[in-house]
Amino acid sequence: MATHVSEKEARDVVEAAREAEWKLPSFGKQLFLGDFRLDLIHPQPRLDPEAVEKGERFLAELRTLLETEVDPLEIERESKIPDHVVDGLKKIGALGMKVYPEYGGLGLSQLYYARALGIAGVYHSALCTLLSAHQSIGVAEPLRMFGSEEQKRKWLPMVAKDHISAFLLTEPDVGSDPARMGSIATPVDEMPVAKGYDDIVAHPVEGGYEITGRKLWATNGTVADIVVVMAKVPKSDGHRGGISAFVLPYNTPGISIEHRNQFMGLHGIENSVTRLEKVFVPEENRIAREGDGLKIALSTLNTGRLSLMAIAVGASKWATKIAREWASERVQWGRPIGEHDAVAQKLAFIAGSAFGLEAMLDVSARLADDKRNDVRIEAALCKVYGSELSWRVIDELVQVRGGRGYETAASLKARGEKPVPVEQCMRDMRVNRIFEGSSEIMHLLIAREAVDTHLEAAGGLIMGDGDAKAKADAAMKAGIFYGKWLPQLAVGKGQNPRSYEEFGPLACYLRYVERSSRKLARSTFYGMARWQAKLEKKQTFLGRIVDIGAELFAISATVVYADRIGREQPERKAGAIELAQLFCAMAKRRADTLFHELWANDDDDRYAAAQKVLAGRYSWLEEGIPDPSGDGPMMPPLD
Ligand SMILES: Cc1cc2nc3c(=O)[nH]c(=O)nc-3n(C[C@H](O)[C@H](O)[C@H](O)COP(=O)(O)OP(=O)(O)OC[C@H]3O[C@@H](n4cnc5c(N)ncnc54)[C@H](O)[C@@H]3O)c2cc1C
Repeated sequence: MATHVSEKEARDVVEAAREAEWKLPSFGKQLFLGDFRLDLIHPQPRLDPEAVEKGERFLAELRTLLETEVDPLEIERESKIPDHVVDGLKKIGALGMKVYPEYGGLGLSQLYYARALGIAGVYHSALCTLLSAHQSIGVAEPLRMFGSEEQKRKWLPMVAKDHISAFLLTEPDVGSDPARMGSIATPVDEMPVAKGYDDIVAHPVEGGYEITGRKLWATNGTVADIVVVMAKVPKSDGHRGGISAFVLPYNTPGISIEHRNQFMGLHGIENSVTRLEKVFVPEENRIAREGDGLKIALSTLNTGRLSLMAIAVGASKWATKIAREWASERVQWGRPIGEHDAVAQKLAFIAGSAFGLEAMLDVSARLADDKRNDVRIEAALCKVYGSELSWRVIDELVQVRGGRGYETAASLKARGEKPVPVEQCMRDMRVNRIFEGSSEIMHLLIAREAVDTHLEAAGGLIMGDGDAKAKADAAMKAGIFYGKWLPQLAVGKGQNPRSYEEFGPLACYLRYVERSSRKLARSTFYGMARWQAKLEKKQTFLGRIVDIGAELFAISATVVYADRIGREQPERKAGAIELAQLFCAMAKRRADTLFHELWANDDDDRYAAAQKVLAGRYSWLEEGIPDPSGDGPMMPPLD
């Protein structure tokens, strides 16, 4: 049964699960503080030759499998990945790409894992969704990060080989707000005497939990073998309680699949509504401590979020190819359409964006592999920026393809044309802005990190809690911090026209990032000073702060990436610099607009208007239009 949860309680639950510590340096965190640490991302870490060899070998096998076994039209038509394809993926070790070899996996680097997802995703999105739900959020990653050695030895070899996994967090009443979680894990002293448990639990166990709840939208949830389930343990004597994570075989008695969900896109994914009715889970299957569940979910997603960027990169690179081929072949009004200015602008946008997105992924994935930096912010920026920008890329691709962009691949094929699945790509890409942290929630999570130092320095003052002495102490603490920090934001390398000269024609963009990083930090400070505790309600302001940070990270990554290509592949140097210039100019223009809109906007008017819409003031506007939605509650009563 879901519980009523106030806004504050919802926030407190997420705040408690937040990883508060920063043990390693973070480019993203410093960027938001006005400290442009180019040295943290440049030069890019070199790849270990052995990892490259292993990665390339796997990519070759994956490509062969896709080209010989997979018919994307069949997956789309049947809404099913054929068994022989799933078996093929298992055979080449695709289920264990990220699992370390000592537990039976391939142990690919983050970079090659990302490339593999990008390749599989372009072939058909259902394939990369299967693989990414299985190992970016499914059993492998939470266990890798938080599992005991015993748990790793037991479960990882299975999920690395042929056991498909899923991650069950969402519920009908729990989307972006885990505090409402209704699934309950009740501690029990002994295993129930019920048919079927002997097969699941190999030896007698003392105690454990009985989980009851209903989970929505679990990807792989109709075909999984092993799952991670999130459920709330009630607080009691000897039980810390709280949202906790459990790993369990999916054939445990009490688990039933109620429905296979169908979506706008991602046809072929196996997504379930799963009922858990008094499902016994031995204590040894709890991952980490009671109450650590949400922390596990959020931490799992840290690098997991790079998977969505990998999909964004794959789709954008493919879009570049299709747009190029089509816009040079299709002639209208006497010229190839790519030579008409309106279409040419779109082509440039598509190609430049593909380069920028690839740069962000490459920089972030190498940092993740290198393990000397904290990539939390970069990965989160990749998720939100990659899913948003690639959506626009695909939207422009649809436009460039004209009517054919709107036609299904099957229909194109049926009338004798190349079955280019642009229409499908658009449907498939849309969900990336919703799942694994919607764009709105990602903005809030990243904004929380962006203002973290301010909260530490001036939290007491901003929140206005405590007596006069506490307030005076807080004011003194804030005064000391800002007295030192603010002057540092006045000047920097970006003002010197000769800075970053070694980057040639791209140096001006690094100077722009350095200057803008300080401006961004000042803007954040002004926002804090102006709205104080109310700043957290200014989601649109905070969203722009995050989006500016994302553009600045994107520009930095693009310059660094182009620089590496130039040094490692001199024959591509000129082209890489051109693409980087193309992307950086667009990103700079977007950042400038966002800076302007921080203070020149109609946010308050629109918020007020929305409240009037909610109150029904303009409901006459809806008159005269029938609603084809049919009957039934928008939110069914909770069980
Ligand atoms: C195809 C698909 C696969 C999925 N796979 C899985 C899976 O494998 N496992 C799993 O556990 N879940 C899965 N999900 C669930 C997914 O993670 C959720 O859809 C997502 O978390 C958003 O929750 P929601 O859809 O309930 O939206 P809601 O939380 O109802 O949000 C609705 C809208 O309100 C916005 N919003 C909500 N709260 C706030 C706020 N505080 N401030 C500002 N805006 C806000 C959201 O951004 C969104 O735009 C899947 C979903 C889909 C569609």
